[in-house]
Amino acid sequence: MTPADSVLRLVRPDILALSAYSSARKESKGGRVWLDANENPETPSVHRPLLNRYPDPQPAELVAKLATLYGVAPEQVLVTRGSDEGIDLLLRTFCRAGQDAILITPPTYGMYVVAAGIQGARTVTVPLVREKNFALDAGGVLAACAPEVKLVFLCSPNNPTGGLLDRGEVIGLVRSLAGRAVVVVDEAYVDFSGQPSLAAEVAAHPNLVVLRTLSKAFGLAGARVGTTLADPAVIAVLQKVIAPYPVPAPVLQAALAAMTPAGLAAARDSVATLVAERRRLAAALVKLALVRHVWPSDANYLLVEVADAARAMAAGRAAGVVWRDRSKDVPNCLRITVGTAAENDATLEVLSRA
Ligand code: PMP
Repeated sequence: MTPADSVLRLVRPDILALSAYSSARKESKGGRVWLDANENPETPSVHRPLLNRYPDPQPAELVAKLATLYGVAPEQVLVTRGSDEGIDLLLRTFCRAGQDAILITPPTYGMYVVAAGIQGARTVTVPLVREKNFALDAGGVLAACAPEVKLVFLCSPNNPTGGLLDRGEVIGLVRSLAGRAVVVVDEAYVDFSGQPSLAAEVAAHPNLVVLRTLSKAFGLAGARVGTTLADPAVIAVLQKVIAPYPVPAPVLQAALAAMTPAGLAAARDSVATLVAERRRLAAALVKLALVRHVWPSDANYLLVEVADAARAMAAGRAAGVVWRDRSKDVPNCLRITVGTAAENDATLEVLSRA
């Protein structure tokens, strides 16, 4: 059995057996007269760039640039409509409705449980340890991984708590679960952490999947560009499940612009600015009477415990400043995104009066 076989055993058998839809642009990439995809030969003149042709399903230039950015091979890359689509594809690929389960570590990103619900997969929860800055309970996760748990979602830095999970513990779980479950590390916010991604570990661990996105550090949430990094055998199966043309032509243009030297420099500058603002905002928040606690953050937001979250939110609404009330997950806690200096001043001003 090859290492890839050990993870392919976890894939839904019907998906493994499925023949992928073969789109026109997969079958023929070149040609002089293109009459194979029932496209209109022209784009109405109101549209520029030209949009009459279906796009390349996985544009090689973008795949190569994302592979370089994340330090992996192009075969380990799948471009998706945001990392949210990566989450959905993993659920649909690995979990049989009514039989399989995922494991999450709350409080965490809400889409894992929603994607599981859509697919009819059960969700097992092993909470992060609040007393230890929301650290991973690695022993608890391992103990809770019954055979039906196919995917373990770890978010690092975690949304909404902000902290990175311990790298050694995450790798330890990946090793312990080899052949039993896939560990999905959602690194949507890792660019703000100053710490290395786990992307480089994908080559050594076929049961590790890393999710990245251009929505945060690159400021492209509106373009919807996520990347799933995984063993080439896993990428090949996900390719069967993904919609035929997930990278629209205008999105490709935006993503390629982000990968130019100027685009990369802009993202680096933006991260540096936001990290400096994060530090300033956290230091100022802890001095406010309403604020009970601010957790250390490796992301572009802060989890803030206040005396009365409902009162704080109402004050924000009245001033037109919106944060996320996370009290359902962590009592009396707001998740406050780090914005521009002026936006952060608005947060401080409103909370100082709430
Ligand atoms: N993962 C986490 C932890 C997130 O917070 C978000 C967005 N809020 C996403 C994934 C999805 O991001 P996108 O689909 O824009 O890449």
